[in-house]
Amino acid sequence: METKRVFEKDPELRKDDLILITGAGGFIGGALTRYFHNKGFTRIRAVDKKPLSEWYQRVPGVESLCLDLSQEENCRRACEGAVEVYQLAADMGGMGFIERFRIECMRSVLINTHMLESAYRAGVRRYFFSSSACAYNIMLQQDPNVRALKESDAFPAMPERGYGWEKLYSELFCQEYWAERGMKTFIARFHNVYGPYGTWDGGREKAPAAICRKVIEAIDKGDLRITIWGDGKQTRSFMYIDDCVKGIDMIMHCDELIATPINLGSSELVTIDDLVTKVERIAGVTLKREYDLTAPRGVAGRNSDNTFIKQVLGWEPNTPLDVGLRVTYEWIKEQYYRRKAGKHVVE
Ligand code: NAD
Repeated sequence: METKRVFEKDPELRKDDLILITGAGGFIGGALTRYFHNKGFTRIRAVDKKPLSEWYQRVPGVESLCLDLSQEENCRRACEGAVEVYQLAADMGGMGFIERFRIECMRSVLINTHMLESAYRAGVRRYFFSSSACAYNIMLQQDPNVRALKESDAFPAMPERGYGWEKLYSELFCQEYWAERGMKTFIARFHNVYGPYGTWDGGREKAPAAICRKVIEAIDKGDLRITIWGDGKQTRSFMYIDDCVKGIDMIMHCDELIATPINLGSSELVTIDDLVTKVERIAGVTLKREYDLTAPRGVAGRNSDNTFIKQVLGWEPNTPLDVGLRVTYEWIKEQYYRRKAGKHVVE
């Protein structure tokens, strides 16, 4: 595949250039909107299909639109005048969701197809795509003591059924928009992201949030037991949300990374049992563990090989899990008790 196009250096991004963030009513898109707003960008367009009242974060002064981006005309409207696009809209969730709703996951290809073409037609300068570690070959993730995944491990292709195939296909689409049409695309493969303002209940939540909620519930109900999905020996790494948004910004503005998928994840590997222990320690409780071996559990082991990101950006996500988990736990606890008191919460 041709990746070495001749390209001109962009003019510097101005603070009043229009930035489009899609999936902005969700976890990472919401955090990214706040991040750019705090950096002083004055024209941000945030788009999500959820009604505005259900967005996890609404940032004052940001143009917030409710549009379904699986429709091409809505993508055209969203991209109008945009200089940079951050495409984070997808129908997704934790293992419970992506193993059960493969069709919904695969239908995100409509969003990516229409967004790429609309961005190209609108003359967007840079386009970011949020891919996933689920794009990696599952045969390399069958043991908890896996070696970390490096970028070349996506091929030969055998990604996660449904969700992973969609991500891999959309990555290739991004690469071709650069190779054939010269639109600068950037592709990060996120490894599990966690933090405040993420989903913590309702079926789409991921392991760190689910475990925090279960511990909080156990304490609240005085029933000191916890059910863990799988045997607790699965290994994973978890990236704190602040690292994620910083990484997105750095990747998007590094010309060496045009059309080049890169890991964006923590390399601090833990078992799910370790994760539960960490949350117990934060909560000051020890629970009796029960293992549900019939529940969705995902691959046996997965970690991010950060050699490439360290080499290109001289940085890697580095918030210790203990630090990020504490903030996340406190936030979910607050949400939990707000909901109990009948107040508005992010779910
Ligand atoms: P999220 O579910 O919180 O946010 C995604 C948002 O996209 C939701 O608010 C949803 O309403 C919106 N959306 C879905 N379909 C849409 C449509 N047709 N039109 C407009 N908006 C639509 O998820 P997130 O954790 O913020 O993930 C953001 C991106 O990062 C996704 O592409 C996801 O696949 C990717 N990713 C996330 C993780 C993670 O650990 N959170 C890991 C790997 C990849």
